[in-house]
Amino acid sequence: ERAVAASLPLIEELQKPSAAIDAPLIAVCGRPNVGKSTLFNRLTGTRRSIVGDEPGITRDRIYGEIEWQSEYARIVDTGGVVPDDEALIPSEIYRQARVALDEADAIIMVVDGRTELAAPDLELARILLRSGKHIFLAVNKMDTVQITSDAENFRQLGFRDVFAISAEHNNGIGDLLDAVFETLPRPEVEAPEELEEVWEEEPDPNAPKPRKLRSHGEYDSKETKVAIIGRPNVGKSTLLNALTGTDRSIVSPIAGTTRDAVDELVERNGHGFRFVDTAGIRRKGKTTLMAEKLSVIMARKHLEAADVGLLIIDATEGVAALDANIGGYAHESGRSVIIVVNKWDLVTTHRTDGQPPADQKAYTEQVRHALKYLDYAPLLFISAAEGINVNSVFREVQKVARERRKRVTTGQMNRFLADVDFQRASVPMNKRVKIYYMTQAAVAPPTFVLFTDRDVKLHFGFERFLENQVREAFGFVGTPIWFKVKARN
Ligand code: GDP
Ligand code: GDP
Repeated sequence: ERAVAASLPLIEELQKPSAAIDAPLIAVCGRPNVGKSTLFNRLTGTRRSIVGDEPGITRDRIYGEIEWQSEYARIVDTGGVVPDDEALIPSEIYRQARVALDEADAIIMVVDGRTELAAPDLELARILLRSGKHIFLAVNKMDTVQITSDAENFRQLGFRDVFAISAEHNNGIGDLLDAVFETLPRPEVEAPEELEEVWEEEPDPNAPKPRKLRSHGEYDSKETKVAIIGRPNVGKSTLLNALTGTDRSIVSPIAGTTRDAVDELVERNGHGFRFVDTAGIRRKGKTTLMAEKLSVIMARKHLEAADVGLLIIDATEGVAALDANIGGYAHESGRSVIIVVNKWDLVTTHRTDGQPPADQKAYTEQVRHALKYLDYAPLLFISAAEGINVNSVFREVQKVARERRKRVTTGQMNRFLADVDFQRASVPMNKRVKIYYMTQAAVAPPTFVLFTDRDVKLHFGFERFLENQVREAFGFVGTPIWFKVKARN
């Protein structure tokens, strides 16, 4: 257990800002022992997966990031459990394939160049090839040049792109990456969900009729994907049970393993709420360290699949460093966030530590101070175990889901800009830019493009000022707001 914890990434390492949360995804698949973890570690430059054949070790979908020639991608090791039982290998292969096919933009299938192809190789190849995705065959363990030519034998699997590599000795990796990155989609703006045509011309004040904001009812028909994130023991599973009205425990097919992502769908007030990867929410690490690391990995993964993140704080402990860390990921991810202070019952009534009952106003100030960058996030006080205020979670989720999809027309934006007194922004003179006009280019998260006189990165103070003004005028509660600058001329 100790060895497992040691080979997982350090929290500090995970704290590195994730530029890549919405970058394209590369999946690595292959049967056990072909060298997937070794390749993953080689590509990400970290030791994130567990190498070697320690049976029963879970390394269920470990994500990492790659930078190659100034481009970014995420990579997922679909590795999962290496079952002892040969009979279980086929189902493991299906599971990997599904992960890869569901999520990835490109797939690297790894085979062992020193052994004969086995039935699971053929089966996996068959499934992957049918998908029509970009698949690259990496024939691994080609440690010397002499045997490299043998890689050609593996063309019988049916892949066009075959690369002889040695993950351990770093042979052939560059060629493989060149080929993979060539095929990856390159989003210019990170993750805007509905990028609209951006005005390149000065808008004619008479021409475009301000479009009506969509009615709220329109959003209500859409389900909202919710991630429950937070440190171990803050009450994530308890809240999930309270929200879904279930108390299912994980039934695992193999002892010591976890299942695939399972979502739970709940309908409330005519609105669908999808709680993502509920098996992951209930998953517990065996050691404290392991559980903490897992909670960060899970938070990032769950946010990716969500519209709204519920950041759970334990009222008895206040905001800890790890909470702030997870909150930082939530902020960067562009997802909407609601801060949920749970176990409120424990600090208000029957306190066992002799402290006076907590004051909600003072508590709010402390949380706001510790999580400054989430100042747009609503803050709720609940008791998941006692079912107190749990319904407010549904209400707030619905509200922030609506807010993140709200659109401001260019007409409304022009009127708004005309009213803003930019002299009030505390920005050094030489950092000031003149905004000619501004338009909302995307929703979820709301993204605004500023057409300015100069091509400069917005000064922090200026961006902050502008964001506050936009929020004052238009709300956007719960969601981060992104700004992009375009110089006109
Ligand atoms: P996985 O189960 O597919 O993730 O495989 P691992 O990455 O755990 O590797 C299985 C074994 O193959 C380990 O003992 C590795 O050290 C070894 N291995 C991985 N890559 C290479 C390579 O390029 N050359 C050689 N000779 N061995 C390798
Ligand atoms: P997770 O690790 O974040 O999923 O946390 P759990 O849901 O397993 O909860 C950890 C512990 O806190 C359990 O013993 C729960 O019963 C307890 N707990 C969770 N929510 C509350 C609450 O609102 N009030 C009290 N008193 N205990 C709670």
